[in-house]
Amino acid sequence: MDIHQVDDTITRRMNAILERLQFLREADLYFYNQPITELRGGSHVMVKGREMGMFASYSYLGLVGHPRINQAAKEAIDRYGTGTHGVRTLAGSLDLHQELEETIAAFKQTESAVTYTSGYVTNLTVVSTLVGRGDYVISDKLNHASIVDGCLMSGAKFLRFQHNDMEALEERLQSIKDGSAKLVISDAVFSMDGDAIDFPRMVDLCRKYSAWLMIDEAHSIGVLGKTGRGIEEHFDMPGTIDIKMGTLSKTIPSVGGYIAGKKEVIEYLRHASRAYIFSAALPPAQVAAANEAFKVILDEPWRVEKLRANAQQFISGLQNRGFDTLQTSTAIVPILCGDDNSAFAMTQAVQRQDIFVLPVVSPAVPPGLARLRATVTAAHEPGQIEHAMNIIQAAGKQGGVIP
Ligand SMILES: *Cc1c(COP(=O)(O)O)cnc(C)c1O
Repeated sequence: MDIHQVDDTITRRMNAILERLQFLREADLYFYNQPITELRGGSHVMVKGREMGMFASYSYLGLVGHPRINQAAKEAIDRYGTGTHGVRTLAGSLDLHQELEETIAAFKQTESAVTYTSGYVTNLTVVSTLVGRGDYVISDKLNHASIVDGCLMSGAKFLRFQHNDMEALEERLQSIKDGSAKLVISDAVFSMDGDAIDFPRMVDLCRKYSAWLMIDEAHSIGVLGKTGRGIEEHFDMPGTIDIKMGTLSKTIPSVGGYIAGKKEVIEYLRHASRAYIFSAALPPAQVAAANEAFKVILDEPWRVEKLRANAQQFISGLQNRGFDTLQTSTAIVPILCGDDNSAFAMTQAVQRQDIFVLPVVSPAVPPGLARLRATVTAAHEPGQIEHAMNIIQAAGKQGGVIP
């Protein structure tokens, strides 16, 4: 393939990816970036004129398209328009931003909160504001890419430990000399495997070694805890996280990221984190949508309960059919396939039966652990989940993933 005339490292790196993509497209195994034309309540979507069962959504509580949330967004546009006057610090702050931050602080049971324009940017800017050269940041090996990038950008000494291994974390903490600033950071629920961090032991270790604790709740808001408030509620350990990070783009059907915590910490981030100071404010419609969504979660607690029941049904049903779903106990359900090609073949077979599910392959996951990364939401009905599992089972048998 002759993409570019110059034969340098950039060209070779680019061609390696482009050749892989071309191979997948020619074999009809490319399923990424498919445009969805209709959402149909979130449990189904329209793709190329076909209705498909949606099993790759992050809208865990089925809130995309909720009438109250849509209405709030429309009213915000009518009142404020579609953008702001720039960055929050200067002319970009609206009363709506303040209201959203108060709503988040109340939901997360903290004193204060600050928002940014994406979850990715939140991790980049906050980790690199909290720690820097001479400090230490200690991260689970399966933490999200935005955490890894934030750690690298910070310039702090970046120590990683085996996934969810608290002895390994303690060894790292012991290796740091007293008096150094230490930030321990972890996903609450891991985005590729769906398992939760050993939170009680992590909290103990942070106390014992005087480390700050930052937890990314992208996949635990609305998912963990009786009322969906997240991992502290799940373990009944309120007030134990120093830096509670989350996104407004998954359970919350908007866009943006937030940090909730003590008012001094938030005040500091508001005046020291570069993504707050140098990047424009969230637009009014998205702020109003996010604000209303937190209220809907509390007003409609059945969603959290239904999600939990659906996840249980999906995980145990797949395990009973012989699939390896790793340690998941949440709405993210990895269905192990083995090598990348089997994950692509499984996806093809399942998508041909109108189930929208996507593969995750190396380097996003280690070679040999390629998978379908399925998600279940509160929008699904038990019959629909059963139907999807039967199709996945047939595909698994056909591809030799299960006997
Ligand atoms: C999705 C995700 C993010 C990034 O959030 P965006 O709002 O999509 O930028 C951060 N952390 C984790 C664990 C995520 O899954």
